[in-house]
Amino acid sequence: MEYEAVIGLEVHCQLATRSKIFCGCATTFGQPPNSQTCPICLGHPGVLPVLNRQAVAYTIRAGLATHGVIQSSSVFARKHYFYPDLPKGYQISQYDKPIIDGGYVEIVTDAGPKRIGLTRIHMEEDAGKNLHEGLESVSHVDLNRAGVPLIEIVSEPDLRTSDEAVAYLKKLRDIVVYLGVCDGNMEEGNLRCDANVSLRPKGQEAFGTKVEMKNMNSFRFLKAAVEYEMKRQAQVLDRGGTVIQETRLWDTKRGVTESMRSKEEAHDYRYMPEPDLLPVVVDPAWVEEVRRQMPELPDAKRERFVASYGLSEYDAEVLTASQALADFFEKSVAAFDGDPKLTCNWVMGELMARLNQDGTSIEACPLTPEQLAGLVGAIHGGTISGKIAKTVFGHLYGSNKTAEQVIEAEGLVQVSDTGAIDAIIAEVIAAHPNEAADYRGGKDKLLGFFVGQVMKQTQGKANPKLVNERLRAMLSA
Ligand SMILES: [Zn+2]
Repeated sequence: MEYEAVIGLEVHCQLATRSKIFCGCATTFGQPPNSQTCPICLGHPGVLPVLNRQAVAYTIRAGLATHGVIQSSSVFARKHYFYPDLPKGYQISQYDKPIIDGGYVEIVTDAGPKRIGLTRIHMEEDAGKNLHEGLESVSHVDLNRAGVPLIEIVSEPDLRTSDEAVAYLKKLRDIVVYLGVCDGNMEEGNLRCDANVSLRPKGQEAFGTKVEMKNMNSFRFLKAAVEYEMKRQAQVLDRGGTVIQETRLWDTKRGVTESMRSKEEAHDYRYMPEPDLLPVVVDPAWVEEVRRQMPELPDAKRERFVASYGLSEYDAEVLTASQALADFFEKSVAAFDGDPKLTCNWVMGELMARLNQDGTSIEACPLTPEQLAGLVGAIHGGTISGKIAKTVFGHLYGSNKTAEQVIEAEGLVQVSDTGAIDAIIAEVIAAHPNEAADYRGGKDKLLGFFVGQVMKQTQGKANPKLVNERLRAMLSA
């Protein structure tokens, strides 16, 4: 039997606020355990939560960027469960009245662009973390993360393959990072996702039984876990069995999913409206203010790069893959705007190759956009050839010199003086009388040989266009 997968993702993004969602504690990652806590996030009796305005503004931003409807009134709810990292015995989340309703994200698939619907985006607080490490055979609880603001972005079951799931998660990550609402650092767990996966026979409309996979914090794990689960469910169905609705965990070491709990033991969270918080009322004027402050998103940036710099779709896609790379390109073009396509070629070619080779990120690039602009300007203006430019690039990278200084110090200025070039050509022709005679006899291909000889004599500094012109003229003379 051939099956089709139906996949939906629930993505948790930690909002990049400085303080927690309901108290003033800092959200800095990697601090000593329990150093960023107070009676509110420790869940002491009698304390009252106060909503962080910035967390709401960031959520609205995420909603606008994903074409959702911002609700003028939404409600916080208590989600009850017991776990040692949850001192209150409930998590404050949103349930039946989330702040953002609907929306979509567009991904690129082999079959073209595809729209993935969003069900909702809601706000909630994170829980703490249990630590089972150290020499003592005891566990500890670190509550620094308790009360850190999260948004949960819930997709419709619109994804069909593991590649689509990964493309969707990447797109979401790009959006929230571009928006500045989330750092998107998956290793620190500030972007993680749950996946709902079910199979149905190809052509069937009704969904199969879904399995939920929890807490995947890398694109690689998501892809592997979804693929494993698709295979596992197909085997169950092929044997005539039924898939059990359950929650499974991806075991990164063994590369398998393992049952965590089945529906029979599923939690009844006893959701109830949070009595200590008023409904979140969002004024349309505030939404407009947030909209005005929104940074440009990747898709819009890509379209602008094509329209205003004359780049191909492919080039624009590569350059806008990260905001830092796009900024580097735009700063270079701002410093020399004579040839954006040439600037693009150098960013995507030599610069990215060098960064990759060194394992350096564009954020820590040892070449400034101004240095690159100087180099591109020198090529464009004919001061140096594209070949010599690679040598100049090598000197510039990691230095604090300008391209002009390097070209002058290394004596790399292109020779475009006809007199000087003619003199060298005359020498070369005199040194190779047989080849010159053959060329004159019709062996046109020998022109390349002569160009090579002249370039060799000038250490590559002769203007290649001029060398070609003068050689043709002098050989035919
Ligand atoms: Zn606190």
